[in-house]
Amino acid sequence: MRVRGLGRPRRAWRWATAPVRSEAVILLYHRVFEAPLDPQLLCVTPANFSAHMEHLQRRYRVLSLEELRQAVGEGTLPKRAVVVTFDDGYADNLWNAQPILERYGVPATVFVAAGYVAQELEFWWDEVERLLLHPGRVPRTLRMDLDGGIYEWDLGDAAEYTTAEFERHRGWHVLMKGDPTPRHRVYRELCRLMRPLPDAERRRVLDGLRKWAGVDGRFRWDYRPLSGPELLELTRGRLVETGAHTLIHPVLSALSLEEQHREISESKATLEAVLGRPVVHFAYPYGSRADYTLETVALVREAGFEGACSNFAGTVSAGRRLDLYQMPRFLVRNWTGEEFARRLTRWFRE
Ligand SMILES: [Zn+2]
Repeated sequence: MRVRGLGRPRRAWRWATAPVRSEAVILLYHRVFEAPLDPQLLCVTPANFSAHMEHLQRRYRVLSLEELRQAVGEGTLPKRAVVVTFDDGYADNLWNAQPILERYGVPATVFVAAGYVAQELEFWWDEVERLLLHPGRVPRTLRMDLDGGIYEWDLGDAAEYTTAEFERHRGWHVLMKGDPTPRHRVYRELCRLMRPLPDAERRRVLDGLRKWAGVDGRFRWDYRPLSGPELLELTRGRLVETGAHTLIHPVLSALSLEEQHREISESKATLEAVLGRPVVHFAYPYGSRADYTLETVALVREAGFEGACSNFAGTVSAGRRLDLYQMPRFLVRNWTGEEFARRLTRWFRE
């Protein structure tokens, strides 16, 4: 039917049949690792990761972040497009994830906290886990001078933590409501208190924790961030691209603009010096809308990045306005291949 004066019968018809939208999902992984403990839910086992990548290769159109940006810019975004990204820059991205990415020909972007490269340090959240949630004995009371306040925790009988207890609570993670022992409560509270601290302050707190627990700062080999040579190796085949993720993974919104500028542009320069090629993508640490501001976004743009990823859920749609400096991502957990497939279908429908 043609209605005179309306003049848009094709458009009306297209709306009525609800065509499949050209749309993309950006996935956010952290680690591909069989972890004895994963209180932050950062790990996907190699078997599950392999099932995820196989599913993507069979059923979806996998793109690199660069290809996605170009397709959005040119209006050529394909249907069912998926981009794989990793945050933080764990060495297992090279040893465990890359062979699987290569097997299925899936490109990926690894966002690296550049200040941790070649530091032989664990990320602070891993170290807090190592000091509190593993079997052993620590003093009963933990007293900490933190961010201008004095905190004191009584661990009670949990000062002694047996292997049997460790095994019993291995499945615990921070999204669970309760804390099975005082150690878990202290771990949860310390993570919350330490997250927004300036780097020097956080180092001081970690130092105090190590002394209290009677252990040194030696890092666990399986928990280390990528080294310089590993970073080169990771990007050698050009299937994996390195993006920047600041220097020391701060909450950017808690920093002055000068400090933010330094974290953002020096992470770019540091990685470019290691890789000998431009680093064009950035991801905000923690990445929720509270963890950075619009001024941060402007700084990222001014530093010369061509796109940036956030950490809130959402699809990238050709029909919607997309801020290339705040691209949404879906966080992937340690799901089986079936569960991953179900979630992906649901994300595309949302
Ligand atoms: Zn991160």
